[in-house]
Amino acid sequence: MAMSHELRWNPLLKCWTIVAGRRIKRPWRSGECPFCPGGEETIGSWRVLALPNKYPALSPNAPEVSGDDLFGRARALGECEVIIEAPQHEGDFPDFSLDQVILYIELLAERTRVLGSKPHVKCVVPFKNKGALIGVSLTHPHSQIYALSFIPPRIARELESAEEYGRRHGRSIFDDILARELEEGSRMIYENNSFAIFMPFFVMWPYEVHVYPKIKVTSLPELGGADQEMLADVIRVVVKVYEELFGKDCAYMMIFHQAPTDREHPHYRLHLEFYTPHFTSDRIKYAAGIEWGAWTFTYDGIPEERAGEIRAAARKALEKLDYLGRALG
Ligand SMILES: [Zn+2]
Ligand SMILES: [Zn+2]
Repeated sequence: MAMSHELRWNPLLKCWTIVAGRRIKRPWRSGECPFCPGGEETIGSWRVLALPNKYPALSPNAPEVSGDDLFGRARALGECEVIIEAPQHEGDFPDFSLDQVILYIELLAERTRVLGSKPHVKCVVPFKNKGALIGVSLTHPHSQIYALSFIPPRIARELESAEEYGRRHGRSIFDDILARELEEGSRMIYENNSFAIFMPFFVMWPYEVHVYPKIKVTSLPELGGADQEMLADVIRVVVKVYEELFGKDCAYMMIFHQAPTDREHPHYRLHLEFYTPHFTSDRIKYAAGIEWGAWTFTYDGIPEERAGEIRAAARKALEKLDYLGRALG
């Protein structure tokens, strides 16, 4: 069927909006989980699975469009995939074995390689939304990948900063941020051989944490086997910490920031950002007037005190989890 989808350029904010008109929900019969093994799209034996989105907002055969200088349009080129993280219907990364989460990382790396090599793709963005609070009703553990034909503004801004910093100092800004966080220590949570978890100095969401590499990698496909294992380990730890703080049903977003696939980006680093809107299990931070309307976050509280709470939660979480690193602070 014909779908009208396109990119519309915002000439004021200089960013694209993905317009997915007549994007229809998958025709799932209510009550039936589309991701459980044996479903129409999930036949066969698998432990992790990448599914093309049947009605994607972006596609390689998006219709031609024409715009002008002021109201720019572009074809909605790209790919959208769903990543099923495990065969089991319930649970999250800490409930799965480390091996299961390694398979998940391997699949994200493989899809990054495949999607990133397509001529119409510039940037591959894996992410996970979890929790009814942020509109995710499907409980079967899943993530998504958007392979974009443009570099999204948040990553573009990071690249610009990394390049500028690299020119001035000859080092990666990401490496220097992590070194400084380790030196100050007051916001560090956990580290293993390849990655570290911390609340960034410039935190926006109440319990936001970032995962930076201690190794020089710019994207998922560059990770060796040992580093994939270490990344799986930190993901299990972060989610367990959130569950410890806000309960099993807590809402969070996990975003993989990796270098665009258009060319080399030596000063960039693969990293993960976790945002949760929770202050407590039932008190929520909204991106409201000043945050959304002015892109200026207010942080209600003292970051270092909250980082202390996260560390206390991490100590409890690690009593209940097999892990490969060590708690910090
Ligand atoms: Zn299911
Ligand atoms: Zn980032």
